[in-house]
Amino acid sequence: MDMSHKPQKPDRTAHTTHEKSHAAPLHPAAPPRPAIGAQLSTAGGFLPVPQRALDIGAEVVQVFNTNPRMWKPRVPGPGELEGFRDGLRANGLRLVFHSTYLINLASPDDGLRERSSEALALALTTGALCGAEGVVTHVGSHRGAVDEAERRVIAAIGRAVEMALEAAGDPLPPLLLETGAGAGNTLGGRLEELQILLHLEEAVGLAGVLPLGICIDTAHLFASGYPVDEEAGLEDLIGSLRRLGLLDRVRLVHLNDSRTPRGVKRDVHENLGDGRLGYEGLARVVRHPALSAVPFVLETPGLDGHGPDAANMEVARAMRAGLPASKRRGR
Ligand SMILES: [Zn+2]
Repeated sequence: MDMSHKPQKPDRTAHTTHEKSHAAPLHPAAPPRPAIGAQLSTAGGFLPVPQRALDIGAEVVQVFNTNPRMWKPRVPGPGELEGFRDGLRANGLRLVFHSTYLINLASPDDGLRERSSEALALALTTGALCGAEGVVTHVGSHRGAVDEAERRVIAAIGRAVEMALEAAGDPLPPLLLETGAGAGNTLGGRLEELQILLHLEEAVGLAGVLPLGICIDTAHLFASGYPVDEEAGLEDLIGSLRRLGLLDRVRLVHLNDSRTPRGVKRDVHENLGDGRLGYEGLARVVRHPALSAVPFVLETPGLDGHGPDAANMEVARAMRAGLPASKRRGR
């Protein structure tokens, strides 16, 4: 099997999709496997992104909707959004947005929380206009009591939804709260803290307006203390998600290796197979039946430090194909 994914011509993916739908009955025993993609650069705007995805063999595109470290947003024009949507569709690519890193929905500072709601509203709006299947956000950090922080998060998301509905109308893309590495007072380091979304749904005016889900990040879970690299640890994680009512809320997996050891609550991503989670540990996540319908996105540093690359994508596909570590190529 040729694992080297060469850039494709626009019409080739359409054929692939077509072939897949016919191939399914021929291999009834083959278990479903997740789509795999990558965080991609938006240098030059959104229009070059689909080609970047094809260049490294990504089936799912994740991009920041605006500069992740600046409050002043870049707001793309309708032509760019339409071109982006068309480019993705023509190549059978799926899309998720990541909101800015500055968002803190739990902050006790009213001004910061309002700016965070505005930033999240823009991400949801852009997501709606581009047909994104999710908008990922970190929850934020708090000082003081967790239940107060939770109330602030619920109010801040409610505010963001209000603004996004006004700008983009119904329907909004699902909002996905991401698991954190558990640093300081950040929310999301424990799965229990993401149950906030279930409370969010009960909040007046939100039920049914905004689909809610979670994004689990393998490196964050590991840094936060979950032994997801071990077979039993992964089963425990899946069991906890199920028990908390969150398993069917998992709509995205961030597939990252970790440079830092388990439980240190410090988040440093590593290329797949080169970190503390390792090839076998991550391969078990990729091939776990409970996650087979969920898209996977790489946020690895890449061999040259410019983000997920063809080599990392090849390793991810080798994991998905069930190849042993010794057979993987790309290094
Ligand atoms: Zn992540």
